[in-house]
Amino acid sequence: MRSDVPLSELTTLAVGGPAERLVEVETAAELVAAVRDADESGRPLLLIGGGSNLIAPDEGWPGDVVAVRSRGIERTGDRLTVQAGEDWDALVAFTVENRLAGMEALSGIPGSTGATPVQNVGAYGQEVAQTITAVRVHDRHEKAERTLSPAECGFAYRDSRLKREPGRFVVLEVEFALEPSELSRPVGYAELARTLGVEIGERAPLADVREAVLGLRRGKGMVWDPADPDSRSAGSFFTNPIVPAERAVEGCPSWPAGEGLVKLSAAWLVQHSGFGRGTREGRVGTSSRHSLALTTEDGATAAELLAFADRIVATAQERFGVTLEREPTAVRP
Ligand SMILES: Cc1cc2nc3c(=O)[nH]c(=O)nc-3n(C[C@H](O)[C@H](O)[C@H](O)COP(=O)(O)OP(=O)(O)OC[C@H]3O[C@@H](n4cnc5c(N)ncnc54)[C@H](O)[C@@H]3O)c2cc1C
Repeated sequence: MRSDVPLSELTTLAVGGPAERLVEVETAAELVAAVRDADESGRPLLLIGGGSNLIAPDEGWPGDVVAVRSRGIERTGDRLTVQAGEDWDALVAFTVENRLAGMEALSGIPGSTGATPVQNVGAYGQEVAQTITAVRVHDRHEKAERTLSPAECGFAYRDSRLKREPGRFVVLEVEFALEPSELSRPVGYAELARTLGVEIGERAPLADVREAVLGLRRGKGMVWDPADPDSRSAGSFFTNPIVPAERAVEGCPSWPAGEGLVKLSAAWLVQHSGFGRGTREGRVGTSSRHSLALTTEDGATAAELLAFADRIVATAQERFGVTLEREPTAVRP
C-alpha cells in the first residue's frame, strides 16, 4: 500500500490528484480481498487497470485505488481464460502467434483485459463481445463471486451492463472462444480491407492484419506511446452517435446501425463543429492526427479537459442537433 500517489501517473490522460491509498494486487484472490476490505471499512473504491479510459478527478481519490495487476493466460483448445490485469495487446499478440482468430483487429488498444468487457472494446470491425463467452466477477451488491454469461453482460456498442451499473462488478477473469485459424476473421472495416488489399468479408493472414492495424493506429496517434503527445489521450473521446435515419447529417459519414438507425461519424461532427485536428485551448485540445482524441499537456487538469469537451458537445448540438456522448468515464468518489 502506498499513500498520496498522483492519479496523473496512473492514467494516459495524465490528469488527477492524489490517491489516498494505492493498493496493487497481483492475483484474483488479492483483488477480491482488497475490494472487500475497502467495502467493509466504507472507503470509496476505484478500480484501475491501464488507466487508459478514465478521467481522474483533480481533487484526487479519498479512499482506495486498487490497481489490477493479476496476470495469466490459460489455454484449453480454442478457449482462453485470462486474468483481469493481463495486458490487452500482449493477449492479442499471443492469439496471433498461436493462430487463434477473433481479436486480431483489436491490436494496439492499451489497457487491461479486465476492462475490455466494461465498454465492449472495439475497433476496425471487431469488438470483444464477439469472442467473450464468460466474465468471472466479484459482485459488490451480492458480496459474492459470479460468472456472467454474454447475455447477462448486456453488451452493446461501446457499452455493457458492467458500465451501466458502475461500481457493481469487479472483473476477475475473462473467457474467450477463438477460431483456430492462420487467417483472420472476415475483415469488416473498409479502411483495413483497403490497407490489406482485400475485399470486405475476405480473410487475411492473422499477422498481416495485426501489422496493418498497428500501422493505421500509429498513423493516428492511437497507439499509447509516452513519447507521442498525440497518444496522451483516452483514445476516442466521444462515441459515434446512433440516430434515426431521418436525422442523418448531410455530408457526415454514416453506417447502418439496426432498423431505421444510422451511426454518425463523431470525428466528422467534432471537426465540423470547429474543433479540427490540432485545435488547442490552453493545455488541452484535439490530437494533431485525429479530431476524436482529446489530449493534454503537462499541468493540464481534468476540469480544463471536461470544459473543452463540453464546448465541443454544445457546438455539435447547436450546429447539427446531435448529442455527442463521452466515451471515457469521469470517475467520482
Ligand atoms: C491511445 C488510445 C487508444 C485507444 N483506442 C481504443 C479503441 O480503439 N477502442 C476502444 O474500445 N478503446 C480504446 N481506448 C480506450 C481504452 O484503451 C480501453 O477502453 C481499455 O479497455 C481500457 O482499459 P484500462 O485497463 O486502461 O481501463 P481503465 O482506464 O483503468 O478503466 C476503465 C474503466 O473500467 C473500470 N475497470 C478497470 N478494471 C476493471 C476491472 N478489473 N473490473 C471492473 N471494472 C474495471 C475502471 O474503474 C474504469 O471505470 C484507447 C485509449 C487510448 C489511450
